[in-house]
Amino acid sequence: MLYRDFGKTGVKLSRLGFGAMRLPIQKDEKGRITGIDESTELIRYALDKGVNYVDSAFYYCHSESETAVGRALKGLPRESVFISTKNPLENACGSCWWLRLQLALRRLDCGYIDFYHFHGLSWDGYQTRCLGEGGPMAQARKAREQGLIRHLSFSCHDTPENCIKLIDTGEFDSLLVQYNLLDRQYAPSLHHAHEKGVGTVVMGPVGGGRLGVPSEVIARATGAVSTTEAALRFVWASPDIDVAISGMGDRRMVDENVATAERGEPLSDAEVARIDRLYDENKKLLDLPCTGCGYCQPCPQGVAIPRIFQYLQWHSAFDLKEASRQRYGWLGTGWEEKNKPAPACTECGECEPKCPQKIPIRAKLKEAHKILGETVKP
Ligand code: SF4
Ligand code: SF4
Repeated sequence: MLYRDFGKTGVKLSRLGFGAMRLPIQKDEKGRITGIDESTELIRYALDKGVNYVDSAFYYCHSESETAVGRALKGLPRESVFISTKNPLENACGSCWWLRLQLALRRLDCGYIDFYHFHGLSWDGYQTRCLGEGGPMAQARKAREQGLIRHLSFSCHDTPENCIKLIDTGEFDSLLVQYNLLDRQYAPSLHHAHEKGVGTVVMGPVGGGRLGVPSEVIARATGAVSTTEAALRFVWASPDIDVAISGMGDRRMVDENVATAERGEPLSDAEVARIDRLYDENKKLLDLPCTGCGYCQPCPQGVAIPRIFQYLQWHSAFDLKEASRQRYGWLGTGWEEKNKPAPACTECGECEPKCPQKIPIRAKLKEAHKILGETVKP
């Protein structure tokens, strides 16, 4: 396993982190939980192979992920593993935040958390819900003073610009954002963090499973054994990224990812360029010259035009059919609630004159929905 200095924290982390969000934990119709023992063994299996960073969250796996992580650590020197978990910022209530911290410590059955994240922090959420007397940020500082937290961190789905604002508050020792072959929007935020000595962790290096499926385009460009291998090697090619967490659900995935991490061969610049070239060539064939510039936004109905077109490009240019459909299916739900899928379009036409590529957006949205979204409701 390769290890790397983590920002200015003084700790060395394995380049591969264990994402404890796809553990084999199930809940049946009577609310009975199964799979914790199996999950515990799986995490332990990865730790035994040299992984030393485990990333969980309050609500992962029916809120049982932290428990599985805690059990996996039993019998190991506490300082040999770095626990990362997250407190959801559901309201501005500092005492609720504190309560969730106490609960996390109990579930993990340990005295402190190494990297405690504000889960899904936005710039707006930071300003309106974190600050203020007795608010979550004050509680977090107190927890750090009391030794319950070693480092304060945040995960982010806000814009890359707002992510940089959060880094510049100077409050956080590390951050966690999405970054992969298909989605590189946070590259400037990661670079900024790295320059400032803030530790960088990326989630979804294999596209939340999307790059776990075979892609002819990627395989041809890299010669990698699997798309997953190419995806991890792509992430590790960036000097700005310290750790990539991969949600691993069975031993086969652990073995494959650990083997890639151990080989330590990031994709070369030439291989990345080859992927990009093939992608661009296939995009041209698609006749959808969307550059993702975002000038068509905001749509009064919240239609996520650039994202929808990006998924259509993944579908056809990268041959990632299942992956792009899955991602499209998330639009309008969960944290994507404000980003609507194509059927929300009322055909007002406001967006089209703003598009520098002169894309017939309304017609293309219909086409995209036909291809990506048979199962998506308006
Ligand atoms: S035409 Fe559709 S996508 Fe474009 S601005 Fe109007 S509602 Fe939004
Ligand atoms: S303005 Fe045109 S090119 Fe830019 S994101 Fe919107 S559809 Fe794509």
